[in-house]
Amino acid sequence: MGYDYTDRVAIVTGASSGIGRAIALDLARRRAVVIAVARRADMLGDVIAICRRSSPDSDGVAADVSDREAIEEAVGRVLERFGKIDIVVNNAGIPMRVHATRLTVEDVRKAMEVNFMGSVYVTMAALPSMLRRRRGHIVNVASVAGRVASPREAAYAASKFAMAGWSETLASDLYRTGVRVHSVYPGPIRTEIWDKITEPAAYHGKMYPPEDVAAAVRACIEKGYFERYVPGHFAVMPIVRALMPRLFLAAGARFDRKHAGR
Ligand code: NAD
Repeated sequence: MGYDYTDRVAIVTGASSGIGRAIALDLARRRAVVIAVARRADMLGDVIAICRRSSPDSDGVAADVSDREAIEEAVGRVLERFGKIDIVVNNAGIPMRVHATRLTVEDVRKAMEVNFMGSVYVTMAALPSMLRRRRGHIVNVASVAGRVASPREAAYAASKFAMAGWSETLASDLYRTGVRVHSVYPGPIRTEIWDKITEPAAYHGKMYPPEDVAAAVRACIEKGYFERYVPGHFAVMPIVRALMPRLFLAAGARFDRKHAGR
């Protein structure tokens, strides 16, 4: 292993369930000090208790990532207490599965505020200290929907495409500063996000465990990958889309209509 997690301070957002929970537990098992951020204090308590079994200094912050002030204060407190942040995993997110004909401006704003701006607030608050130390990893958990069209998910896709562009340019600007930026693009992962969608899902195929995403996050940190897809073969989707854009869009729309209705 090329990275020793012992006593590394890792902020993980959206850690109360699903992918974020899996990432938090995975990092704490490797003795990183996990600071778990999410809105639901009760569920966060459970995650922190498990993290503390292997990493006693792990802690939680009940905060909404779209609340800039709360996030800046929370990150400031982490820096005061530990003097550093080694890893940021921007994972908190909400679904927004609403057909374009029913979508409201408010839906779009909400998706952007939580999924995109939430990760911006955490990153901008942690970055100056990382740059001063010339070390750190920022891992952004976007979505395959941040690389290719995802029917009925214009607002969600916009927030995830924003994350993808933001990550890629940050990685370029921060090249050789010691701060590495990575993107992880999950496909269908078995979590409660699927219970939160308001229009029927079209996808009924194989679901992958959240632990696969946690492994991809670690692969980025340990092996320096810029990006990982989960599962790995979903990396072919943006290539197919680039080669046959019209066909890709038509197939997606037809698949959605057939399996999710109108
Ligand atoms: P989830 O609903 O189980 O977890 C989302 C987490 O984010 C929860 O802990 C929730 O409390 C937290 N959260 C939501 N809004 C928040 C806010 N405003 N402030 C703080 N925390 C907030 O879903 P998940 O599948 O684990 O999703 C994690 C990330 O993975 C999301 O960004 C999601 O878009 C992305 N993703 C998931 C899938 C999938 O199939 N599950 C696929 C692609 C991308």
